Amino acid sequence: MSSKLYPWQAGLWQSLAGRSQQAHAYLLHGPAGSGKRALAEHFAAFLLCKASLQQQPCGQCTSCKLYAADTHPDLVRLEPEEEGKGILIASVRELVAKILQTSQQGGRKVVIVEPAEAMTTGSANALLKSLEEPAGSTVFLLISHQFSFLLPTIKSRCVLQACPLPNEQESVQWLQQQSELNEEQCHTVLALASGSPLSAQKLLNADVLAIREQVVSGVKQLFKQHSSPSDLALAWAKMPPELLFEWFCQWAQLILRYKMTEDDSQLGLADMSVVLKHVAPRAPLALLLETQDWLLEHRQKVLRRVPLRADLLLEGLLVRWQALLPR
Ligand SMILES: [Zn+2]
Repeated sequence: MSSKLYPWQAGLWQSLAGRSQQAHAYLLHGPAGSGKRALAEHFAAFLLCKASLQQQPCGQCTSCKLYAADTHPDLVRLEPEEEGKGILIASVRELVAKILQTSQQGGRKVVIVEPAEAMTTGSANALLKSLEEPAGSTVFLLISHQFSFLLPTIKSRCVLQACPLPNEQESVQWLQQQSELNEEQCHTVLALASGSPLSAQKLLNADVLAIREQVVSGVKQLFKQHSSPSDLALAWAKMPPELLFEWFCQWAQLILRYKMTEDDSQLGLADMSVVLKHVAPRAPLALLLETQDWLLEHRQKVLRRVPLRADLLLEGLLVRWQALLPR
């Protein structure tokens, strides 16, 4: 493991590493894609380091070397066995037993729990006692993307550290350094990633701008009856479905809002605003609401990775979408 902070975390780091005394449990919370895991990892390396210099892990001591090799015996990461699943009570019990043992490197022990909201009530209760009276000098670092889902008993035992997203300027600057995009493209990708620079970077790796262009042009062709739902569904079958559903959900929302408010400034990214504005007054309201429900329902299935045939799913979506603009 290498531990590295993002540039927007300097202030956060100061408030953690600069404490005169370390607490035994921290809860790092904030939106997904703000870099909480990186912060927790760097903090873990720092807490384990035997010779930290100027509030940074030294990178040279045995502890730092073990950390870098991802073999530090006194660092435990508690995660769901499968992404999106809960953290099992058995895993928590195993962890609790482990932290009762003496630390192997003679220093602190660090436990990273991510995401903390994946603990079931049973798992959380099994952890409570350790959180309250940690054995030896164990430090817990809990990471939460959905703070409101956490049990109050867990929150109250931790030092709360909010980890907000960087502002747009900082995000764009960072994205520009990470990619070959110009400033305007960075703003676009950032908007597609709901303001998270790290999610934006993931989208870039998935070639999001090219996909977006192809999808926007496809939707225009569809409304002009120049493409059929089945042709487009076939052409889009290899695109990430969660991305497509995210966009269509947003577009349905924007059409609905414009229909109600006629507010030009609320039409989303420029590439689709003219189309949405054209469709809004013409789409039958009942059909629009029905389409929105369908989209939200199927988006949930996509996010839960329910096995579906991509081409059939997209064709269903596009048939509904085309009907929003009656001939
Ligand atoms: Zn060190």
